[in-house]
Amino acid sequence: MLNDPRSHGLWEASAPPAPATLPLAGASEADVVIVGGGYTGLSCALHLAEAGRSVVLLEAHEFGFGGSGRNVGLINAGLWLMPDDVSAVVGADHGGRLLAALGDGPALVMSLIDRHGIDCELERNGTLHCAVGTGGLAELRQREKQWQLRGAPVSLLDARETAERVGTSAYAGALLDQRAGTLQPLAYARGLANAALTTGATLHTASPVTKAERRGNRWRIETGQGHVEARWLVVATDAYGMGPWRATREAQVRLPYFNLATPPLDGATLATILPRKEGVWDTRTILSSFRLDRAGRLVFGSVGALRPGGTAIHKGWAGRALARLFPQLRGIGFEHEWYGQIGMTNDAVPRLHAFGPEALGVFGYNGRGISPGTVFGRELALHILGKKQAHDMILPMSGMKPAPLRGVKELYYEAGAQLAHLAGNRL
Ligand SMILES: Cc1cc2nc3c(=O)[nH]c(=O)nc-3n(C[C@H](O)[C@H](O)[C@H](O)COP(=O)(O)OP(=O)(O)OC[C@H]3O[C@@H](n4cnc5c(N)ncnc54)[C@H](O)[C@@H]3O)c2cc1C
Repeated sequence: MLNDPRSHGLWEASAPPAPATLPLAGASEADVVIVGGGYTGLSCALHLAEAGRSVVLLEAHEFGFGGSGRNVGLINAGLWLMPDDVSAVVGADHGGRLLAALGDGPALVMSLIDRHGIDCELERNGTLHCAVGTGGLAELRQREKQWQLRGAPVSLLDARETAERVGTSAYAGALLDQRAGTLQPLAYARGLANAALTTGATLHTASPVTKAERRGNRWRIETGQGHVEARWLVVATDAYGMGPWRATREAQVRLPYFNLATPPLDGATLATILPRKEGVWDTRTILSSFRLDRAGRLVFGSVGALRPGGTAIHKGWAGRALARLFPQLRGIGFEHEWYGQIGMTNDAVPRLHAFGPEALGVFGYNGRGISPGTVFGRELALHILGKKQAHDMILPMSGMKPAPLRGVKELYYEAGAQLAHLAGNRL
């Protein structure tokens, strides 16, 4: 992607090719114009095209250029927040709807993958949220209780069961979520693009939107080379918003997150680490995550940006942390490295925003965008199709304000992660 080996790393190297698309040129018309070619925009395009609406999607770079092509690939159910806290933030009605829809999110992702034959390394064996110490275990007990009250298939594993599944005795327990799984993120984005194209949507890459204007009862959306007129506008630019959609980026605090991938592990080693291929993350504030890819590489990640100053610190820490977790991997090295920016909101709940008349968008998934992006893409489509009124949607409409102290917080996250990993180096 953009010839930058640190942007999409392993996912760029192992994803099936993107469908062939061209930049927008000249004038065109549609029922709906969508800005952004990640999960939110592509899911919306697919669901609208399936319902017979004409759709033009404009992506500034390539499908999956933003978080959708850079993430860990954990298909999570729900949000970061504990279920009870979600209702506390958005109210009981919306909270109930949101949790039900996002709880079913992995099933929606997996059904789209099945229906459209998307080749994206899908694993359906759940995720393990691993407890660091007794504090971590107490947090997971709360999560287990709150999800079980809502009928979700989650269960707390003890330290022995966790060690058997993960292959390390570093954790005090783990919350197994059987709804969840893992996938190859960029391959899923490209697969959604293929499905949307096949279903009849028109998709343009290398088409950054530079201007958006309401003329009468229609939107006129311009790139340097062309324009689209449409009744409806969907903004799906999340933490990578540029041009007129820079505001979506500025309404979020961006948290950098990096991933490193080992070479493929041999069969004997693979038998000792995540033999059932669950996706893993832990309860630390500066958390770590890991999962296997189809070729048996271990993808290991944490908070931080791989740019000068941070790269050596984060890579050094990751090598040591991996060796502490799995001594058999000592000195194995990393074959790929990449990082991206996670869009965080101040209450950890995504924003459903009206950008004007007949103009909607969702952003701010707080590191949970695979299922939620897919779910919200469908939600926006249902609203445009007239099947869901604004007050029936799974989130209330919110205002758009720049995140308070955004620059300071972003600096703090990046420097804080470096300090934590530097301290970790000295352990
Ligand atoms: C490193 C990392 C790890 C993560 N791990 C996970 C995980 O394991 N599980 C999970 O569920 N979520 C994870 N996430 C979050 C998830 O990736 C995102 O929430 C999700 O991809 C957001 O999808 P989206 O379609 O809304 O936005 P994006 O995928 O960011 O897409 C937005 C698109 O809009 C385009 N765009 C912006 N401005 C314009 C413009 N003016 N004109 C045209 N196009 C424009 C951008 O180029 C971009 O392609 C992670 C994120 C990162 C960065």
